Amino acid sequence: MKIGFIGLGNMGGPMAHNLAVAGHDVAGFDTAGVTIDGVTSVDTATDAANGADVVITMLPNGAILRAVADQIIPAMKSGAVFVDCSTVDVDSARAVADQANAAGLGAIDAPVSGGIGGATNGTLTFMAGGGADAFATAAPLLEIMGQKSVHCGESGAGQAAKICNNMILGITMIGTCEAFALADKLGLDRQKMFDVVSTSSGYSWSMNAYCPAPGVGPDSPADNDYKPGFAAELMLKDLRLSQQAAESADAATPLGQAATDLYTQFVDNEDGLGMDFSAMLPRFSKLGRG
Ligand code: NAD
Repeated sequence: MKIGFIGLGNMGGPMAHNLAVAGHDVAGFDTAGVTIDGVTSVDTATDAANGADVVITMLPNGAILRAVADQIIPAMKSGAVFVDCSTVDVDSARAVADQANAAGLGAIDAPVSGGIGGATNGTLTFMAGGGADAFATAAPLLEIMGQKSVHCGESGAGQAAKICNNMILGITMIGTCEAFALADKLGLDRQKMFDVVSTSSGYSWSMNAYCPAPGVGPDSPADNDYKPGFAAELMLKDLRLSQQAAESADAATPLGQAATDLYTQFVDNEDGLGMDFSAMLPRFSKLGRG
């Protein structure tokens, strides 16, 4: 397939590379002038979109996605498919899909989980929203870049699944960290805490697979001085998107809001920027009740 790839950063770069390695003809554009092995660099987003069967975007936010969509949709050939893999707000995902559909294009939102390691190794999980035909066209490419894709429903459903998942993750990580900090103050050994909770009803991915306590449970960023991993500021981005969506849909999300406030405090006013999101544990350890 002839593929245009726009946004060749930490995630987009390796994803575009994997498509090229699999034999696709990939034209890439990034405003930072990044070049990727196997990918033909072009000078504008429009050049990447021209004549492409599928255009993939992997961009920082919804405003940039909308600006890029305005440029490339008129340049895309009829019947081509626009696949946005960025994490953006549900409203932007739906607006861009509507704009693409109105121009005779297919469109899916297909945000990912799996991080930079998943992008590099082609093991991402995609959660997709949009029409069945557009999903079917994109599916072989998602299979190259990832190991699993779930078609979640109409436009925006992929972004909805992503932010709901990450809202749960933010909340359970905070809960796990504050419970460890309490256990410490109660004199409970961290390994014993893990042994009990990881096999009891308090278990979760945050405890069992990504334990925030160093030296306990499987290897995780806690064992590497809380270097990310999944950076606290990226968790904050996703939590803010969840609250924006909750606002727009009039949904009650008190714990999602509390998690957003805590990560805002951690990233903006404490030492959370650049730390893994599980570094909430040393943060709580330093605090008392006051
Ligand atoms: P990044 O900042 O490394 O890459 C974004 C790239 O987009 C940059 O290279 C930037 O130069 C480029 N860009 C910005 N504006 C542009 C424009 N108008 N035209 C073309 N290129 C432009 O970010 P990333 O880590 O690759 O993340 C990309 C997206 O994936 C984000 O939406 C992020 O939330 C999501 N995501 C990231 C991770 C992760 O672990 N990094 C995990 C899951 C999802």
